[in-house]
Amino acid sequence: MKKHIMDFTLEELENLVPKKFQAKQIYGWIYQKYITDFQEMSNISKELRQELSEKYYISSMEIINRQVASDGTIKYLFRLQDGRSVETVLIKMRDEKIDKNGDILQQARWTICLSTQVGCKVGCSFCLTAKGGFVRDLTAGEIVEQVVAIKRDINLEHNRKTNIVYMGMGEPLDNLDNLVQAIKIIANQNGLSISPKRQTVSTSGIAPKIDKLGILGLGVNIAISLHAVDDEVRNELIPMNRAFNIQSIIEAIKRYPYDTRKRVMFEYLMIKGVNDSLKDAKKLIKLLQGIKAKINLIYFNPYPGSIYERPNEEDMEKFASYLNSKGLLATIRASRGMDISAACGQLREQHVRISQSS
Ligand code: SAH
Ligand code: SF4
Repeated sequence: MKKHIMDFTLEELENLVPKKFQAKQIYGWIYQKYITDFQEMSNISKELRQELSEKYYISSMEIINRQVASDGTIKYLFRLQDGRSVETVLIKMRDEKIDKNGDILQQARWTICLSTQVGCKVGCSFCLTAKGGFVRDLTAGEIVEQVVAIKRDINLEHNRKTNIVYMGMGEPLDNLDNLVQAIKIIANQNGLSISPKRQTVSTSGIAPKIDKLGILGLGVNIAISLHAVDDEVRNELIPMNRAFNIQSIIEAIKRYPYDTRKRVMFEYLMIKGVNDSLKDAKKLIKLLQGIKAKINLIYFNPYPGSIYERPNEEDMEKFASYLNSKGLLATIRASRGMDISAACGQLREQHVRISQSS
């Protein structure tokens, strides 16, 4: 059985080829030139190219849907080898500005939001990905390939600054080994070269696995999907909170070896009438005392059949300004790609619905 070449770190690949430097050459072709055929590796001998193509494949997924939002966000739906599908979102963070001489004043910044699983075990009540249950973990190669396939698709030069967030479908810490492998491969300077400092793992809060990730000392950022300040409310939203409650997550974060110059990101999904009162905001301040935190407030994005509602803009702004007035940095996440339902799982569901009804 052939293996995915993107499953291997550079060090592993060095042990799989006759000479060490060949692994670096292969990395360059795959991750900087985005080639999909070993035969294109012109500085590698014909024999080795042949051997590689007998043992490995470079591409395992296919873009089956692409939606472009008015703000430049692109949402991709990929078909995996086994016919399952996952989504990846490319978010344009800043507009490109070019002066009248054609010189670039400001380059667009890109963030790629990666999926780590098909489905998810955590089962959050607000999340569309959870509805289909858990299907399987993505392999390291499948996680890495999302980045390469998108850079190839939009012709993004390999050295353009790109950030990675593990915020797509699935719970990244539930697929820890493949996640860690992917972080290392994506970071390698001979390849994609996206340093762990530019990579952020978003988790619903599996406290012991936050510790496990921290011990590895990769230097990757962590973001916590907090969404509630009371365990009772959080139990409703994220059933796993019964096992790892708010306090246990806060303690794990305090132990996490994050970059002291940076703030730890807490995501707070605002749901109308559930967690959007000023009472919640007050509790939030108390809860995060002693942590250099940043709150990212997210509008709940409704979907057909969802049991919650999107909060009012006014309540959202009141919540944010209250936090800011108390010295807790809070931003409201611009609903990027709203017109293409960029919240995780939503494009895939649409696609599944459409293909089931046709
Ligand atoms: N499983 C991890 C990472 C991916 S979840 C986690 O929970 O942190 C992806 C993100 O999408 C999370 O921040 C989640 O809060 C958000 N999300 C899920 N459903 C949403 C919805 N209906 N509207 C807005 N954001 C949603
Ligand atoms: Fe899983 Fe995250 Fe969705 Fe919760 S919000 S079900 S953890 S993907």
